[in-house]
Amino acid sequence: MRLRVLGCSGGVGQGRLTTSFLIDDDILIDAGSGLGELSLDEMAKIRHIFLTHSHLDHISFLPLLVDSIFERIKEPIIIYGQPATLKGLREHIFNWTIWPDFSELPHPQQPVMRYEEVLPGSVCRIEGRQLELIPVNHIVPTVGYRVESVSGKAFAFSGDTTSNSSFWQALNAHKGLDLLLMEVAFSNSEEELSRIARHYCSSSLATDLVKLKHSPEIYLTHQKPGEEQTIFRECKAAIQDREIKQLKNNLIFQL
Ligand SMILES: [Zn+2]
Ligand SMILES: [Zn+2]
Repeated sequence: MRLRVLGCSGGVGQGRLTTSFLIDDDILIDAGSGLGELSLDEMAKIRHIFLTHSHLDHISFLPLLVDSIFERIKEPIIIYGQPATLKGLREHIFNWTIWPDFSELPHPQQPVMRYEEVLPGSVCRIEGRQLELIPVNHIVPTVGYRVESVSGKAFAFSGDTTSNSSFWQALNAHKGLDLLLMEVAFSNSEEELSRIARHYCSSSLATDLVKLKHSPEIYLTHQKPGEEQTIFRECKAAIQDREIKQLKNNLIFQL
């Protein structure tokens, strides 16, 4: 299984693209602005899009993707999300005001995209790869994902979240974890804001990482633009028993 980072920033601005990860060539986790880095041919190969939650930085390029490759789509692209996430898309994005309802185009019986409700805790199997939805603690209903390859290697992506137990418990329930893509949006100077917005800051992440029994490679993601270096320094200082790296666009992992 191949994992390619298309975007991993908490915002935009010169080289910063928002969350989107490509698994092999047919599965996408989140559809932020990083998705726009794919060629039309690469976009046309995407069959399954798993969303962590409804926030704009994670869905903003989904409407544009479907429109850009409309003519090339022979089978509907399946959009997976928990009910609240898909409700948000239906009511606020694909509502004929912001964007056409592509789940009815070109024909309601043969659309270019269709919604698939999935519940936190469930596991989706797609040609040998397993995607487990793990509930986390964000300001809207959100899941992280644990993704296991055919060979049994696994990575996890936290989604947007602040301190919680569910994510760590779900990861600990498995035998191993090879790679962890971990959100940390705020520096310690914005600890109060991180609690209100339900994101991690450097210190709350350091506190929670103790709960993880595995020793995966850890990459930080979703930092606020301009705060990357500060957050990275704080996390390195606070988490000395693990190796922490900075996630970057176009990194490719083989699992
Ligand atoms: Zn969010
Ligand atoms: Zn976000």
